[in-house]
Amino acid sequence: MNPASPNLSPARDPLLFTPGPLTTSLSVKMAMLHDAGSWHADFNALVARLREEILALGGVSREMGYECIPLQGTGTFGVEAVFASALPENGKLLILANGAYGDRMVQMAKALRRPHTVLTSAESATPDLSAVQAALNEDATITHVSVVHCETTTGILNPIPEIGGVVRAAGRRYIVDAMSSFGALPIDIPGSGIDFLISSANKCLEGVPGFSFVLARRAALLEAEGCARSLSLDLLGQLRGFERNGQFRYTPPTHAVLAFSQALRELADEGGIPARRARYERNHAVLLAGMARLGWQPFLDPAVQSCIITSFPYPAAPGFSFPVFYEFLSRRGFIIYPGKLTKVDTFRIGTIGRLFEADILGLLGAIRESLREMNVPLNGAD
Ligand SMILES: *Cc1c(COP(=O)(O)O)cnc(C)c1O
Repeated sequence: MNPASPNLSPARDPLLFTPGPLTTSLSVKMAMLHDAGSWHADFNALVARLREEILALGGVSREMGYECIPLQGTGTFGVEAVFASALPENGKLLILANGAYGDRMVQMAKALRRPHTVLTSAESATPDLSAVQAALNEDATITHVSVVHCETTTGILNPIPEIGGVVRAAGRRYIVDAMSSFGALPIDIPGSGIDFLISSANKCLEGVPGFSFVLARRAALLEAEGCARSLSLDLLGQLRGFERNGQFRYTPPTHAVLAFSQALRELADEGGIPARRARYERNHAVLLAGMARLGWQPFLDPAVQSCIITSFPYPAAPGFSFPVFYEFLSRRGFIIYPGKLTKVDTFRIGTIGRLFEADILGLLGAIRESLREMNVPLNGAD
């Protein structure tokens, strides 16, 4: 491997201030420069080790009754796999939605023709616990409740343990999309009563896109044995495949697995989940302080805002144009993300992935320049 190759220079890649795909380290990218055979013992031993390591990151183990099931595809495939294979024949889902990823869960339930009901909250508000309680009291046929942990639409952090308390007390199963939080924010899986947690290789774990994984309580998965609505998204089928011969049932995402192995090494070197969280919190604090100096406040109340991604409303100044702003920043190597809110024009800046304080400061400098160029008045501190 030759780190001096110009095609591998990290300087050639833009920095991604997005909800994914995210910026990865050069060493994670370089780990992909190998071909691995899916039958090969070394590769399957690596997959087995990674499944154990993901369980450990989740604070659970096989002895505690949990399984880690990686699955080809992006995060969406992982959530859909849970809906397609963890609900028994007479199962019914209560979906708590306060953003685009909650809405996507509704689309999945519709596509799979699973009975479901939706409790929608404003994009700026977390689900109302008493409304969850009431929904469960009123409909005894609801078997499963699903929610997004960090709703990447806004960056809002939903109260996973509190919702889990209500779900567990009512004897229902609990599905959490922790796509954009697992690996950075602490999640007490057993303590929150989580039966299925879904995340992906390419969010806070800083691997490359290519697979998602589900941390499942084995007993909850077995309740739906024989009920899968999909062949390739059948979690129990894939778990049995791993148990049978250690392999993905269909072509494994070999390069993404090699990159992920390196990414987990780098997470450990950094100091594990607490250190990663501290870096993201620092990124977020530097971003918010810099944006405040430009007179810019985030869309969400700080009480519910995560350090993962932040939404900012467009400024009122007539000179502001998002396409011009985006283009200006992207020409300087900074990729931001459009907003996804239904009622307010916003854009988003992610603070996860292989980004550091210096990168945030670089972005802030470019934002300041671009506002000047668009004649958007800057705050007094300029
Ligand atoms: C990124 C993300 C997903 C999955 O998106 P993919 O594009 O399929 O990887 C799902 N839920 C949340 C909360 C996310 O942030």
